[in-house]
Formats: sequence, structure tokens, C-alpha cells
Amino acid sequence: MNEQKQNQIIAQINNDFPLLSLKERLSFIGAEFSAPIFTTSLGIEDQAISWAIANSAKSIKIATLQTGRLFSESLELIEKTKNHFNIDIAQYQPDAKQLQDYIEQYSLNGFYDSKQARLACCYVRKIAPLKRALKGADAWITGLRGEQSNNRSAILFAQFDNEHDLVKLNPLADISLDELKQIIADNKIPINPLHEKNYPSIGCEPCTRAIKLGENERAGRWWWENDQKKECGLHFSANEQQTISEQQS
Ligand code: SF4
Repeated sequence: MNEQKQNQIIAQINNDFPLLSLKERLSFIGAEFSAPIFTTSLGIEDQAISWAIANSAKSIKIATLQTGRLFSESLELIEKTKNHFNIDIAQYQPDAKQLQDYIEQYSLNGFYDSKQARLACCYVRKIAPLKRALKGADAWITGLRGEQSNNRSAILFAQFDNEHDLVKLNPLADISLDELKQIIADNKIPINPLHEKNYPSIGCEPCTRAIKLGENERAGRWWWENDQKKECGLHFSANEQQTISEQQS
């Protein structure tokens, strides 16, 4: 797809998606891009997207980052989702040598000691595998929603991602948590049982806790860090990741 066509599609998506259902959004993406990929973390956002793909856009590849530190409930949900929707979910794992180097430098749970160590762990277990997953893709679908945190409030449906050289698509950008829960309930979509135990956002087990009444949806992620930007770096550019590291060091 040439740049002009790409820009036209991005503009069309940002203009038209508010009028489309979730299934229609995924169907449009499946028809317009030649190698789209959806990376799922198995949260309720991503389960809704897997449902939409299974029902209207089976050509879209689905992948997940198997960090090696996931909750057993999340691992079980990968298999349950595959069987429930009759879809494949490719699993991308950390490179063994990079992981060994990380553990030697910081220790297995060194991510509790500094933001730098935490970002290094997220790089080895998530970002490097993500780069492998996105290789060859022309569009990357995520489950980001605008209301999830202050840091995500300006999310567009579509924009060019210079970092990964593809179009990044956020088909849930305007969906509220209540709307999302309705989609899950109406369509009997399987979700992680941890959500019922006050885990609205679920990542790796050692880095996720239940939230308390009144806390932000993502307050349980890396809760020991005194930082408004509760992100693993998957949705930051290389410059932003570097800036965060420098601020914390
Ligand atoms: S969330 Fe925690 S365990 Fe998972 S990759 Fe990041 S620092 Fe490592």
C-alpha cells in the first residue's frame, strides 16, 4: 500500500469508525490491510476484539506475548479462547539469551528495584517479542481505550506508527467500560476469572495486584512505581522509552 492510500485509509477510519459496530470495524480492517495482526493480552478489551475477529475478519492474525510470568488463569484463557472461537493465537516468547542476560544483571525479580530494571524486563519479555510478532505486518490492532487512564485519553482509531512502520489501529478507542462489559455479556465472551477479583487490568503475575475502590483501572499495574505513566513500553516510541529510563535513573 502506498503512502497516499495509507493516509486515505487512516483518515477514513478516524472519520467513519464512530458510526460502525465493533464487528464492522474489524471487518473493514481485515478487508483493507493485507497483513494485519492483533496482539492480545487476554484482557476484556482484547477478548472482545478476538470475538469480533472470529466472527467477521478471520484473516486477521492473532498473537500474544507469552512472557513466562503470566497468571495461570491467563494461560488457561489462551487455550479456552482458541477453542471457544476456533481461532489460532500465536505465542511469542522471550529470547533465551536475552532473558539469561537480564537475570544475570538484575536478578529474576529485579524489576521491583528500579524503573530501569523494570523497563529492561518488559523489553526482554514483551517488547522484543512484540517486534518479532509485528515483522511483516502492515497494520497492528490493539485493545487500547481512551478512558483507561490519563495517559491514553488522546487515542485515535488509526495513526501511522513510525516506530514499527505500520498503521496502528485502536478499534476500541471510544468504547467505555460499561459498553465493553455489555458486549462481553451479550455475546457470552469468555474472560479472565481474575476480573471478578478486582483485577480490571491483568499483566504479568508479579507486577499486577487487585485495585481498591476508586482507583484507576490500571492502578494495579506496577503499583510500587510512583508514576502516572503505568505502561510497559509496548505503546511508546523508542524516544519515549529512553526518556522514561533517563527520568528514573
Ligand atoms: S510486567 Fe513485570 S514480569 Fe512482566 S515483563 Fe514487565 S517487569 Fe517483567
